[in-house]
Amino acid sequence: MRSCKLPSGAAMPVFGLGTWRMGESARQRADELDAVRYGLELGYPMIDTAEMYGEGGAEEIVGEAIAGLGTRPFIVSKVYPHNATRAGTIAACERSLKRMGIERIDLYLLHWRGGARLEETFEAFHRLRAAGKIGDFGVSNFDRDDMEDAARLDKGLTASNQVLYCLSRKRSIPLMAYSPLDQGGLLRKPPLKKLADEVGCTPAQLALAWLLAQPGVVTIPKSASRERVKENLGALDVKLSPKVLADLDRAFPPPKGKQPLDML
Ligand code: NAP
Repeated sequence: MRSCKLPSGAAMPVFGLGTWRMGESARQRADELDAVRYGLELGYPMIDTAEMYGEGGAEEIVGEAIAGLGTRPFIVSKVYPHNATRAGTIAACERSLKRMGIERIDLYLLHWRGGARLEETFEAFHRLRAAGKIGDFGVSNFDRDDMEDAARLDKGLTASNQVLYCLSRKRSIPLMAYSPLDQGGLLRKPPLKKLADEVGCTPAQLALAWLLAQPGVVTIPKSASRERVKENLGALDVKLSPKVLADLDRAFPPPKGKQPLDML
């Protein structure tokens, strides 16, 4: 599978399994665990989670799914902004490690910009990295102005591109596309279905293949169903011709100018 290079030199796969909404309900837990395990069996090389998801419940499912595996997937997790002080970030990371039963989170992100001072969060990230508890770090849901602040505060970013920032392509760092299916809503759009029929894939596979066709873009569709976990992985085999890419641009026109960042 293709990957993007992170500042530490580590390779981050371009495709992974999302886990938002997992770990919230005891009734759905067995299905969610089964879907994550099945995804790993099929070869999903990465899992995206966060301390927020199910208030730790999603990380526990991830921990259970990867327990005893010879090779574990690349793990991305995120710290809540209200925990993102110097000491709070370190403590939150340690709780996440414990829930997942691992010694290192491969990529650790500030979930969104909140009240904590970014200097403190970054200092904690550096400490965690020096202690081997995280591989790389970055941010999430940062708009352009937040990114500029982050670049000013973390000298390493401008000097040596040491930090992964998730929402900028300007700095040639990977962009992680979340909610790639628009939480399912995109799949009901008739033009997507029509083009998917032409390509010979499903609408979800087409939406994911469009993202994967862009260099430096990583995506993490979530599903708690075996069938859809498998379907989504199939997007890696869908090759899009320049004509299909142009048809997609016509059906879903890109924004004409600068837009405020959408956030879920
Ligand atoms: P998504 O992946 O776009 O869509 C997930 C929804 O689509 C689920 O309801 C899922 O239902 C359904 N679905 C999945 N595959 C499908 C298919 N092939 N056909 C039909 N329906 C399908 O949305 P998301 O969960 O918001 O985003 C993905 C991941 O990105 C999250 O899980 C999370 O890890 C991450 N994320 C991060 C942030 C952030 O702030 N950093 C924000 C949002 C998301 P089933 O489970 O029933 O299949």
